[in-house]
Amino acid sequence: MQLTLTRPDDWHLHLRDGVALATTVPDTARSFHRAIVMPNLRPPVVTVDAAIAYRDRILAAVPNGMTFDPLMTLYLTPDLGPEIIKEAASSEHVHGVKLYPQGATTNSDAGVASLDRVMPTLEAMTDTGLPLLIHGEVTDRSIDIFDREAVFLDRTLGPLMQRLPSLKVVLEHITTKDSVDFVKANPGMGATITVHHLIYERNDMLAGGIRPHLYCLPILKRSLHRDALIEAATSGSPQFFLGTDSAPHAIDDKESDCGCAGCYTAPFALELYAEVFEAQGKLDQLEAFASFNGADFYGLARNTEIITLLRTESLIPLTRLLGDKEVKLLRGGSTVAWSLA
Ligand SMILES: [Zn+2]
Repeated sequence: MQLTLTRPDDWHLHLRDGVALATTVPDTARSFHRAIVMPNLRPPVVTVDAAIAYRDRILAAVPNGMTFDPLMTLYLTPDLGPEIIKEAASSEHVHGVKLYPQGATTNSDAGVASLDRVMPTLEAMTDTGLPLLIHGEVTDRSIDIFDREAVFLDRTLGPLMQRLPSLKVVLEHITTKDSVDFVKANPGMGATITVHHLIYERNDMLAGGIRPHLYCLPILKRSLHRDALIEAATSGSPQFFLGTDSAPHAIDDKESDCGCAGCYTAPFALELYAEVFEAQGKLDQLEAFASFNGADFYGLARNTEIITLLRTESLIPLTRLLGDKEVKLLRGGSTVAWSLA
């Protein structure tokens, strides 16, 4: 048994920088033709020139014989003004601006504490059609970590959509039924869904021992939310598309007294997504989710190359080396039901 599909893209990815690119770029380019590349480097990517320089470093890490087209993003800070938006919107290489509520996740210290401060920038994005890519969690310490996404919808995203209804928004790595319902109620919006949020729920991370390699942000939720995400991803709705949020951290940084958030999923993400869709009897919807919906949302041409997945097991290696740092792969050391031909 085999499955052919248009070569997919990853609409939310962390490639990191420096020596890590020698691993992260081929690991993604193996399956995906394009990826929306997150700008949360240190320092963050806040100018078009910096985005293009980062793009050049990524392209230099693409191995011979592989093709990969990085789609760059800027990091929304309170200083990113409307003039940069106009420059970004006219650049063929910049495809979105990422909003991190300040302190929400890895390297988000430079993020935005209040949207009121960036309203002229968001208005310029509305005018130019440049998408806003949102990490949708409040950072208020009084809000329970499992509720932070739902509260963000009420407090921040709902009012923003009322204020700027034609702003093009991607709600990234959604983790709750609340977000699924919110996106469906706003037909102009898109949302990415990671493979780890389709496979796991919070018991997998916390029951019978704590598993730091499943810790990511937004954090895994209870199973009813996972089930809503599976339903959305496999539904055929054009609003939902593949975004791995693959985010490598060294084993030392994950298995620590205060471990980092993020899962390294890129190398076998496509095979793992195929397993989820197969379990639902929805393999016929995988191509729309992985290869069509994101491109359509971003107004880019669909890929033309065809790839083949074989229904034969592949072994996911336990670890990868990023420079001299070992990183654990999601489900590393076990098999996945599909292999890329
Ligand atoms: Zn991310």
